[in-house]
Amino acid sequence: MDIKQACEKMKKLERRRWAYGHAMSLLSVDGMTVAPAESYMGRGETLGILSEDSYDMFINDDTGELLEFLSSNLDGIEDPAVRREVVLLKEEYDKDRCIPKDEYVEYTMLLNEADAVWHRAKADNDFPAFEPILEKIVAFNRKIAEWYDPASSSRYDTLLNEYDRGVTTAMLDGFFSRLGSAISPLVKEIAKVQDRVDHSVIEGVFPIEKQRILSRKAMDYLQIDPKRCVLGETEHPFTESFNKYDVRITTKYHDDDFLDNMYSVMHEGGHAIYEMSYADEYSFTSLAGGASCAMHESQSRFWENLVGRSEEFISYISPTFRELFPSLEKATDRALYEAANVSMPTLIRTEADELTYSLHVMVRYELEKALIDGDMKVHDLPGEWNSLYRKYLGIEVPDDTRGVLQDSHWSGGSFGYFPSYALGNAYSLQILSSLKKDVDFSGCVASGNIAPVKDWLTEKIYRFGRLMDPNDLIESCCGEKFDAGYYTDYLEKKYSDIYGL
Ligand SMILES: [Zn+2]
Repeated sequence: MDIKQACEKMKKLERRRWAYGHAMSLLSVDGMTVAPAESYMGRGETLGILSEDSYDMFINDDTGELLEFLSSNLDGIEDPAVRREVVLLKEEYDKDRCIPKDEYVEYTMLLNEADAVWHRAKADNDFPAFEPILEKIVAFNRKIAEWYDPASSSRYDTLLNEYDRGVTTAMLDGFFSRLGSAISPLVKEIAKVQDRVDHSVIEGVFPIEKQRILSRKAMDYLQIDPKRCVLGETEHPFTESFNKYDVRITTKYHDDDFLDNMYSVMHEGGHAIYEMSYADEYSFTSLAGGASCAMHESQSRFWENLVGRSEEFISYISPTFRELFPSLEKATDRALYEAANVSMPTLIRTEADELTYSLHVMVRYELEKALIDGDMKVHDLPGEWNSLYRKYLGIEVPDDTRGVLQDSHWSGGSFGYFPSYALGNAYSLQILSSLKKDVDFSGCVASGNIAPVKDWLTEKIYRFGRLMDPNDLIESCCGEKFDAGYYTDYLEKKYSDIYGL
């Protein structure tokens, strides 16, 4: 076999993996959106068979030899993108191979069941119903970390690496302590002058039908191609990309809050834009997708916060608000902007304002570290959760539905993902500062002509897919290493202006 033939064989293998991934994700999306509650039993059976087949198709001696051959002949591969493909695929192969097949299948089926158990437990405020399955998931994650990297001194570091290559607890401890020392004083200052911003201007009843029109407006503003991306409804908004030609996003409607839905659409829409914008030739290869989870969150946050929560965007969209919701007729643009940016410690992460958001992430970070690397028991989670909310946000958690059961990440087996949200916030500000050197950002957002912003991001970030590690991508995009200072400066400036500090 020569190198050209081997590369062709690898491409064929990658396409088959994508096909299995497509089928399995489609079943999962169906399960999370429109499928009836008890369908998880039949779906679990199908997912078990598909995951077993896809495992056998990828993990075998034939693949092992192929990837070994290509890895030892990297210099003979001309295209750097194909070299990277080999490296990424070999890494995935090595990781998958170290998981025993029966455990892999068992874990896939466990997560499928956990989703349904978590939904019920959350609805019933019944953590004890969720506890046994969560214990199994935590135990699995500890095992997975040991399989992946038996030599690592921190299992949690190994899991973090799954979402953001190169990120460690040592780095995150420093990052979060920097955020904490910038955010906490601001939160305290704002608490003293809370009534300077009037939230009541956006309070009322906002019919879901009208909100659906607003969702479409937000999708149009983001110039999301409706032939490649559709919006669904679900308990916990998410984005699933089957490939760059079929991306599903979801939102949730509350009739007492029209902004929550709009920002969900802009957040998930940001993920979708990234997923639809990598280079065509990366489709169905290991280079498809985003550079890392934090980089992905940087883009969802970019469109949700830096665009959506800006004064320019609020002025642009306010006529639509007033047209859809007559109770807003008398509200000025500035009043709407301030109300949309009220900062106050609250219970739910996904509904948190930009300032307190990272405090929610810090709570989860502390707990995950303790569960995976420390000796904290799943049984103690609700109590620990509540005490960290008291410590970081200064509030009492009234029930587990609005506490430890609020997120879907742990039932989905994602330990190590949460820090990506805070890192993503910080990336987004550094990227924005670089973008502003080339593009009239305020002008684009205010006029609704956001094409130059999207084009710049595509050129600097999206088109590369997974070609670069996140640290390298930040450096290539911004011309300097990662610096959280852009994020803390932004928060200080924005909230000092809104609250007149
Ligand atoms: Zn997101």
